[in-house]
Order: sequence, then C-alpha cells, then structure tokens
Amino acid sequence: MRVGCPKEIKNHEYRVGLTPAAAREYVTHGHTVLMERGAGAGIGASDDAYRAAGAEIVDAADAVFATADMVVKVKEPQPGEWAQLREGQILYTYLHLAPDPKQAEGLLASGVTGVAYETVTDNRGGLPLLAPMSEVAGRLSVQAGASALEKAHGGRGLLLGGVPGVPPGKVAIIGGGVVGKEAARIALGVGAEVTILDRSIPRLRELDELFGGRVKTVYSTPTAVEETVFEADLVIGAVLIPGATTPKLVTRKMLSGMKKGAVLVDVAIDQGGCFETSHATTHAEPTYEIDGVIHYCVANMPGAVPITSTHALNNATLPFGLALADRSFAALVADPHLLAGLNVHRGSITNRAVAEALGKKY
Ligand code: NAD
Repeated sequence: MRVGCPKEIKNHEYRVGLTPAAAREYVTHGHTVLMERGAGAGIGASDDAYRAAGAEIVDAADAVFATADMVVKVKEPQPGEWAQLREGQILYTYLHLAPDPKQAEGLLASGVTGVAYETVTDNRGGLPLLAPMSEVAGRLSVQAGASALEKAHGGRGLLLGGVPGVPPGKVAIIGGGVVGKEAARIALGVGAEVTILDRSIPRLRELDELFGGRVKTVYSTPTAVEETVFEADLVIGAVLIPGATTPKLVTRKMLSGMKKGAVLVDVAIDQGGCFETSHATTHAEPTYEIDGVIHYCVANMPGAVPITSTHALNNATLPFGLALADRSFAALVADPHLLAGLNVHRGSITNRAVAEALGKKY
C-alpha cells in the first residue's frame, strides 16, 4: 500500500502523523511511505531521517493526497484538504466529527473511508488512541497551573512544592480518570498536597491503592467540590462523561469563595469544560482572569509538546495503522475495536454515536 503523511496545516499544530521510526515499520511491512517535505520539522525529524527510514520525500501535500492509498495525520483535515481526499482512500487521524457538522459534510462529500483515532476501542472499554493525549494533557496541566500561579503570570505567587518551613500548595483534581491520575502523579512529584474528586468509588479505590494513600480521595458532590476548591491553590478540571457535554461543576458563584490568584486549569474544555466560566483559549494566549481567579483553558494542550505527543501518539496508532496498511478494509472487518473507529465510508456515517450527534442516518 502507499501510505502518505502530509504536513499538518492547522494553526499551531506541530505534531506529525508518522515518526521516522513508524515510517520504518511501514516500510518493513512492504509499504511505500510518502512524506511531505518538512512534515516532521515540528518534532525535529528531518527529511533525511525519513529517507534513512526508507520513506520517499515529496514536495507538496497534493502529491501525498493524490497517490496515497492511506493518509495518516494527526488533526482533522482542514477545508482545503477535503477536496483532496477521495473514495477508496483510507484517512487515519483524529476526526472529532460529533461537534463538527461541516467536517462531516466535507468528508462525506469526498467519499473517503475515515478511521477516527478517538473512537477506536480496546477490550477494557478504553479509548487507546485518545489515552496518550490525556496522559500528556494530565501531566502538562500541573506544569501549566504552576506557571500560572507565579505572580508575574497573574497568580497568587505560590510555589506548589513549598520549601522546608513553608507548607506546599493545595491541588484539587476533579475527575480521576486518565488526565486526573497523571495530574496527580506530577502534583505529588513536585511536593504539592493533592485531593482527587470522582463520582466512581471503584476509581477512587484504585487511585488510593495506586498512590499508597498519598492523595486524598473524595466522592464528588457539589458540596465536596465547593469545599475543596475554596481551599485549593490550583484546581484541575478532568471530568468526562463519554458522549456528553461536561457538567459545570464549579459555578461562577463559587469563584468568589476561592483564594485570589488561585488557578483553574480546565483540561475538559474540549468537551465544553467543567467550570462555568471556562472558554477555550490558545497557546498564544492561554489564560484570562475572572473574579480574581486565573483560568487556563487551552483546548489542544498536547500541541505544546509536539515531540512527546507525536511519539506517544505513534506508539498507540502504529499497530492499528499497520493492520490497515497490511489488510486494507479487511482489517476493519477482522477487528471490532478498529471497526469502532470507522466514522465515514463512501459517503455514509458509520458510527452510531457520531450519526446520532449529527442527526444523520446510521
Ligand atoms: P476519563 O474518562 O479517563 O476520566 C474522566 C473521569 O471523570 C472518570 O473517572 C469519571 O468517573 C469522572 N467523573 C465523571 N463525572 C464526574 C463528576 N461529577 N465529578 C468528578 N468526577 C467525575 O477521561 P480523560 O481521558 O481523563 O479525559 C478527561 C477530559 O480531558 C476529557 O474531556 C478529554 O477530552 C479532555 N482532554 C483534553 C485535552 C486538552 O488538550 N485540553 C487533552 C486530552 C484530554
């Protein structure tokens, strides 16, 4: 198969669909890999590194789209890219179609077979191609929050770890899933005092076990949320209710009870956010202040660390990608978890949840 990887063109997107190591595996499986010139520049992977891996470098994205049997990307195609996709071609990337009807129309019109990373499943009920980005965002959330807590960045002027003789800062994490667990790991690592709130008792049990009692676990009720955020220096929003908009667990009214200069990092912003006062921000202008509380609500946090994110993403996408390249559409029939990733095929929506969200026939 001809496997093509164009340069990402979404604003401030530096990740790339294939690392040189991944390209090499496709080549080892007998496939031809076409990389757009400079596609790996954002992660410091040169064209020569891809050539050494056995890939061919082509000058422009058109040449990738026109000749590839499968296109491997990171972000959903941009409007100019829809027209370059075609029936019979596989597109393997994040799509996030449910909230994006225009994207869905663009892909349906192209006839492409779109396998979306975010809906591929595993046999433990997880989303294995989404999890690595949640790991990155969870770990990054503490770093982002710690920076926003600095006085010059508008925060209280507090060091999360404290120093001998001065107590550490308090970090409250709402939602103890993948993001929450990784945030807790880093917050503990810098010496902060950490509380995790979740609605799932089994999950709180696991976290208690995992961290050996070093985090406080609290069942999430509106009262518990209120009490914890009033005490906190940094609050991390990491709630997910699959398929639904995130509930607003921290209301505007609660902000007035918080410490002045405290920081809210709303990782869940891509699903609407769990703070009433959240709105999506960008890496260029990540924070804003409401009622004396600093908000950080960057919707594509992993984009800040494209090297780590690209490698983590490739580790997860490679096995499924190789299966698609080796067996084409037969790979989808053979693996129900990969089939769960199939969102569009020859002008039809092929994922029930996506079809329902878009009000389309399934
Ligand atoms: P997850 O499913 O692993 O965890 C979500 C947790 O929230 C679960 O443990 C669930 O029990 C808990 N929860 C549900 N309702 C709750 C409530 N009322 N109070 C407290 N906890 C509650 O999800 P995840 O992978 O950790 O992702 C969390 C969010 O982060 C998602 O919205 C995801 O899309 C988002 N995310 C954002 C970025 C970004 O760049 N901003 C990157 C990756 C992930």
